Amino acid sequence: MKRNILIVGGGFAGLWTALGAARVVDKQGDAASDVEITLVSPRAALQVRPRLHEARPEQMAVPFQPLLDAVGVKFIEGSVERIHPNDHSVDIALAAGGARSASYDRLVLTSGSRLFRPPLPGLAEHAFAVDQIDEAVKLREHLESLASKPDTAARNTFVVVGGGFTGLEVATELPERLHAIFGDAMRPRIVVVERADVIGPDLGPGPRPQILEALEKLGIETCVGGGVVSFDAKGVVTGTGERIDASTVIWTGGMVASALTGQVAPEVDRQGRMAVTGDLRVVGAKDIFGAGDVVRALTDDEGHYSLMSCQHAQFMGRFAGHNVAADLLGLPTREYRQTFYATCLDLGAWGAVYTEGWDRDVKLTHAEGKARKILINTQWIYPPAPDRVQALAVGDPDIQYA
Ligand SMILES: Cc1cc2nc3c(=O)[nH]c(=O)nc-3n(C[C@H](O)[C@H](O)[C@H](O)COP(=O)(O)OP(=O)(O)OC[C@H]3O[C@@H](n4cnc5c(N)ncnc54)[C@H](O)[C@@H]3O)c2cc1C
Repeated sequence: MKRNILIVGGGFAGLWTALGAARVVDKQGDAASDVEITLVSPRAALQVRPRLHEARPEQMAVPFQPLLDAVGVKFIEGSVERIHPNDHSVDIALAAGGARSASYDRLVLTSGSRLFRPPLPGLAEHAFAVDQIDEAVKLREHLESLASKPDTAARNTFVVVGGGFTGLEVATELPERLHAIFGDAMRPRIVVVERADVIGPDLGPGPRPQILEALEKLGIETCVGGGVVSFDAKGVVTGTGERIDASTVIWTGGMVASALTGQVAPEVDRQGRMAVTGDLRVVGAKDIFGAGDVVRALTDDEGHYSLMSCQHAQFMGRFAGHNVAADLLGLPTREYRQTFYATCLDLGAWGAVYTEGWDRDVKLTHAEGKARKILINTQWIYPPAPDRVQALAVGDPDIQYA
């Protein structure tokens, strides 16, 4: 009889969970020869979500079947529709059509997050997004189609709703993207509309001077303290009562955890995230672990909790993978700890701002910040090559960035 570990979701958390679990199974040799690890996800590619504001979003899918093959992890292409914690099984809608179920001894939920869309009038019909590859491709196609439209103020106006991390990256990338499409003579009007009274409210005061400097340099307007209250085919109305006519409106209003969390956790937080114990077991759900955007986990002894971010998803994945395999094999589990925290915000042609610590002390700006962002976005967040030894080493929970 096989003992099964099932990982639900092939994002940053799920892939790094697979590496963490495969590493423990590999180290245990014969004692773990009956352990089978399986990952279920709608397709065999990692969506590099942090790069979906860039010009070529269709290139942001990294196939991972060769990596799973290298470390001996099986793959099911499909979506888990239902988790049955009492009989340790899941129902899967297969990508190729049809359905099947799969049983598990231990499950790791890593089904991530989606863009939060509140029921604002016209939002669903009239706003673009960059949350998933297909949405970002739709935006790219729309931007390219504008070049053949009459040269009006509305055509040349771009509203980015949400002045947080994603909204700022989208807005500051737009001037370059638009110049590539329309030529340098194009003078777009780009407006970031933020509901809070300040730009980048969750980023805190640390990097705000650099953000404001970049917005000014790039000629990007801001409208704070009202948000957008309605969307229509011709633009938006803001909470401050302003009407902005725009052919392009991009919604970036936050993220919410996968709805699967509600099937296993008795309680979730405001973002739909599950509470977990120190070793990343879902509180109130026997034999289920969690990692990434679906959980809110304590990262250090100072009371800081994980955020919906790649750095937390990858690190938690290593620990969840290690722990789920250790637990199944009767070995001690490890407490998840990730004391180093950094952010790197892309600010288009201005550069990027890189901060360290939870107070977000600015360490690098302009071109130096950009060099760090490129390193993060083209190397650090990518999965390892499909080489068994290298890939298993990446699953080690003792790896730290700094
Ligand atoms: C535009 C944008 C920019 C961002 N920029 C940054 C950044 O600069 N830095 C940073 O650290 N973070 C950034 N983030 C956040 C980061 O992308 C997420 O925190 C990260 O992707 C979380 O990883 P995850 O594996 O938990 O979830 P996800 O990446 O969401 O992966 C979840 C996986 O689960 C799969 N899945 C979902 N439902 C099911 C199901 N029912 N059954 C099976 N599989 C399922 C999904 O298809 C996906 O493969 C950004 C996000 C966005 C959208």
